[in-house]
Amino acid sequence: MAIYRSPLSKVFSDRLVSWSPLSLIRNHLSLHSASPHPLRSLTLFASLSTTSHDASSHKTDFRWKPMCLYHTQGKCTKTDDPIHLEKFNHDCSRELQLNTAELSKISSQNFDFFLVLDLEGRVEILEFPVLMISAKTSEVEEIFHRFARPSKMSEQRINEYIEGKYGKFGVDRVWHDTAIPFKEVIQQFEAWLTQHHLWMGGKLNRAAFVTCGNWDLKTKVPQQCEVSKMKLPPYFREWINIKDVYLNFYNRRATGMVTMMRELQIPLWGSHHLGIDDTKNITRVLQRMLVDGASMQITARRNPNSPGDVHFLFKNRIR
Ligand SMILES: [Zn+2]
Repeated sequence: MAIYRSPLSKVFSDRLVSWSPLSLIRNHLSLHSASPHPLRSLTLFASLSTTSHDASSHKTDFRWKPMCLYHTQGKCTKTDDPIHLEKFNHDCSRELQLNTAELSKISSQNFDFFLVLDLEGRVEILEFPVLMISAKTSEVEEIFHRFARPSKMSEQRINEYIEGKYGKFGVDRVWHDTAIPFKEVIQQFEAWLTQHHLWMGGKLNRAAFVTCGNWDLKTKVPQQCEVSKMKLPPYFREWINIKDVYLNFYNRRATGMVTMMRELQIPLWGSHHLGIDDTKNITRVLQRMLVDGASMQITARRNPNSPGDVHFLFKNRIR
């Protein structure tokens, strides 16, 4: 396997990122239909793979492969096709599995589940990925992932926006095939929360959102709710900003996910700024913190009488 330093890898340290087998990339591009930009996608897919030593804390026979982004959204029609299953990951729990020694170090938490969330889309929300993590075992219990279609943008603007954002990962086609309005994303998310007994109206039930920074739930979701003409759902009124817990636990200031991963020597897998991959990488940071003995606490809460006011619960925090 040839070694390749991808342009993106420079962002997250001098770590070498190994090149995915070409066949894997080609097959990803021909999934369901061909990408309109195969060459550009090919260049950036270099960032998608991992080195074998990266898997040292995981099962030895683990082989990284890209997620089927139709499957994560409950829309894969090829789950009985062995070739497709060989090429694409349909279960991300294995790559996020801890070994027995790590599992035994996890201390008890105030929550039963963490909902790791990392939104994508600056103008409007484009992607809404959530991993449901058991606080006891730190393992992935469930996944909720949807691509969201902007409601206040012309078709032409959407096409340009998606090409710029997702074309470079080779997943613009799956975005166009699957994206639904944000309002529907939230309706489906609420059905999912209810199905997993995480919510019965009001606050979450023994679960908490974990985000990297305050932007997702303090800024972006309320903005999108306004654009989509809907009320801010009550379960979004408090969250754990992992960077604040990180700062207080390790006594080190990390400005972002990549810095935390570098400092903890956790390899960055997948494509940075593909929401589902960032969510998995934030989950890796969370898992490490749990194994190291951190206790996850709510770091930000909206005033119930004045939801625009956010109260930050940690004195020592990232600003
Ligand atoms: Zn699939």
